[in-house]
Amino acid sequence: MKQKPKELEWASYKSHCHYYLNSKFGKPKTCDNPDCNGKCKTYDWCKKTDSEYTCNRDDYLRMCRSCHRKYDMTDEKLEQAKKNLYWVTGKKVKYAVGERCPKTKLNAKQVVEIRKEYKLGNIFQKDLGARYGISQRAVCSVVNRLSWRHIK
Ligand SMILES: [Zn+2]
Repeated sequence: MKQKPKELEWASYKSHCHYYLNSKFGKPKTCDNPDCNGKCKTYDWCKKTDSEYTCNRDDYLRMCRSCHRKYDMTDEKLEQAKKNLYWVTGKKVKYAVGERCPKTKLNAKQVVEIRKEYKLGNIFQKDLGARYGISQRAVCSVVNRLSWRHIK
C-alpha cells in the first residue's frame, strides 16, 4: 500500500525519537506504571499522552507492552474500535472481520450468494435483504464491498 509522503516523514521522525532514547538511555527494563502487574517483560519508551513527540527524556515513560497498550487506549480510540465492529476495516481490528464479528447475521457463503444474485440484476437490494433477514443498507454494503471485503 502506498503511503503519503507526509505520513512517512512522521513515522520516520517517531522512530528516530525512539531510536535516540534507546541509544542515549538504553532500552527500558522496568515499567513506570505503579499498577503494573509485571507479567509482560518487554519494555518500550512510551510517549506521555499530553506531550509531543520529541527527543526529550521527560516526555516519555518506561512501560511494558501491556501497560503501554492500556495507556494509549484513549476514549476516542475505544469508540473507533467499537464502531469498527460493524465494518470490515482490514487489519485495524482483527476480531471485527466477518463471521467473528458478533453483530453479523451473515456467513461467508451467503455473502457470495448475495453478490452473485445482485449481479444478475433481477432483484432489488431491499428484497435481497428481506430474504436474508438484513437491511437494504447492509445489502448495499455487501454488494459494494464496504463490508465483507475479505470475501471475493
Ligand atoms: Zn507495566
